[in-house]
Amino acid sequence: MRVLITDPIDSEGIKLLKSKGLEVDEKYDASHEELRSIITDYDAIIVRSRTKITREIIDAAKLLKVIGRAGVGLDNIDVSYAISKGIKIVSTPEATSTSVAELVFAYILCHYRNLIKADFSMKNRKWLKHEIIGNELREKVLGIIGLGRIGMEVAKRARAFEMKLLVYDVRDVKKECDEINALQVPLKTLLEESDIITIHVPLTKETYHMISEKELSVMKHTAIIINTSRGEVIDGKALLKALNEGWIAGAGLDVFKHEPPIEEWEIELISHPNVIATPHIGASTKEAQRRAGYLVANAILNELIKSKQKP
Ligand code: NAD
Repeated sequence: MRVLITDPIDSEGIKLLKSKGLEVDEKYDASHEELRSIITDYDAIIVRSRTKITREIIDAAKLLKVIGRAGVGLDNIDVSYAISKGIKIVSTPEATSTSVAELVFAYILCHYRNLIKADFSMKNRKWLKHEIIGNELREKVLGIIGLGRIGMEVAKRARAFEMKLLVYDVRDVKKECDEINALQVPLKTLLEESDIITIHVPLTKETYHMISEKELSVMKHTAIIINTSRGEVIDGKALLKALNEGWIAGAGLDVFKHEPPIEEWEIELISHPNVIATPHIGASTKEAQRRAGYLVANAILNELIKSKQKP
């Protein structure tokens, strides 16, 4: 059986597949058209968030039995169409939560203690000891939108900083909130009362642009917003306007409408002095990649074994 890998995964996962006698090909940066022509020969494909598994790819994939997503978020895969064609989908949602949650705190601390400006000034031989005044996190209100796996990991770390926690989620998450001493509130309350807002929902029809002008306009002028979920959960043009007009104080962005950003307003957004931007590195730690690579390879193996056993 043959497995195609189109986004890099950890070598442990590849070793596992090969040790079980599977033929593994790695083809990174293949265009949509190239992928459509080569996918025909494979029983399984492993992707991360870059490769788009569209209806056309699925139609071309005559032998495909399983799609493996190393990580979490299936918005790059036409899930319902794949399932309708009898193709299984496996992912490793738990593998990357800690890494994303830790990145959220990297953003928060960079903003709250002006680390980027402080470092830049030092490199320019400026000693801004009296100009660079930050804020403490203790007693600040952290608003978590989406209290799933990553949201919970963020909350646990926020407790160590003695922050107050507000949560907005479509599910009733009272039990989880009790565990972390948080309060589940309507979105508007969270937006109005939080000093820092962090987003951890999947990209769906309901969450597309869930943070737009209306939501940004009710936030505190001193608030910052962190998005490590998916770019289009925030209306980026509205965010740029909110930053330019001082509705909010800053943003930390790991995810974008286009990755990499290409439109003029996107470039303006990532270049904004109050924005810290990173190239979708939430899950990019050695530990998360090792876990995701191994777990997705294992899940692919199990599905291929099951498919062989079918009459
Ligand atoms: P999860 O499924 O465990 O949690 C998502 C939470 O969002 C759930 O509690 C769910 O009830 C809630 N939710 C769903 N729709 C909602 C809505 N309309 N309004 C409010 N809440 C809603 O997911 P997770 O593992 O915590 O991951 C969250 C997202 O983070 C993923 O879908 C993915 O897009 C993103 N992610 C990004 C990176 C990165 O590298 N930056 C890495 C991993 C995951």
